[in-house]
Amino acid sequence: MYRPVNRKSPGISTRLAFLLFFTLYYWSIHFISGKSNLQLSQIVFDIFAGVFTGAVTHVAIAKFFGPLLFGRGFCGWVCWNASVFEMLPIRNARKGIAEKRLIYKYVVLIIALVIPGFLIAAGYIIRSPKAQFEWLLIENALIYLIGIILALVLGDRRAFCKYLCPAGALMTLTSPRSILKIEKNHLTCSNCRRCEEVCPMDVPILDYIKEGQRVSHPECILCTECVNSCPRNCLTVGIGKKSDTTPEFGKSF
Ligand code: SF4
Ligand code: SF4
Ligand code: SF4
Repeated sequence: MYRPVNRKSPGISTRLAFLLFFTLYYWSIHFISGKSNLQLSQIVFDIFAGVFTGAVTHVAIAKFFGPLLFGRGFCGWVCWNASVFEMLPIRNARKGIAEKRLIYKYVVLIIALVIPGFLIAAGYIIRSPKAQFEWLLIENALIYLIGIILALVLGDRRAFCKYLCPAGALMTLTSPRSILKIEKNHLTCSNCRRCEEVCPMDVPILDYIKEGQRVSHPECILCTECVNSCPRNCLTVGIGKKSDTTPEFGKSF
């Protein structure tokens, strides 16, 4: 049974504040100074034009090489799309992950890279600041619209992240090798499953913990809601190679 996370706890409210801050920052720099489109599709236009700043740098750092260090922390703490999804008034936010649907986001990733290729072949190249801004607004409006509808239909705030986001798909290629991961410390786990109940990405955390492994699941967004909700404080974000290896389980709460 899903039990909602306590959004007033310091750790969780801090993360939501980060999401809100980065979202306001992201949109204000675009509306005030008209910065370039940082969405995934723009990298095709930029690489074709021989430009390796803006979208290419952003995608390389935040979505591909960065996850080797901080996993999908971008999704948990920074993403301007996720901040809107997380504010949705959905109470039954978790129904379990639909494994078969996880493949969809890789299809969307390929489409997101192929469409700009077709546009380039047709002679339409998005490079001017005005065109980039228009493209950015269209892309983000679509993401917000689809993400909100999906969340409401499936009763899952992070449905878009799990099933359709091409950036999320790209990050799953490197995030399982992240240095930072959720792991168990030396304290005794009660097997209460509270951590799995609050996980917005339906990560089977205890499968890893029971094996003495760190949580290397590609859908983990390092949001730390499991850490902040564990009644025994036995989860943490660590940089070691192994989780606590004692498969010790105390009395359930
Ligand atoms: S999966 Fe996509 S929409 Fe969701 S938080 Fe990550 S980048 Fe943002
Ligand atoms: S004690 Fe903590 S780690 Fe163990 S099942 Fe409960 S919430 Fe999860
Ligand atoms: S495993 Fe923990 S940190 Fe990872 S997504 Fe689930 S709740 Fe967040």
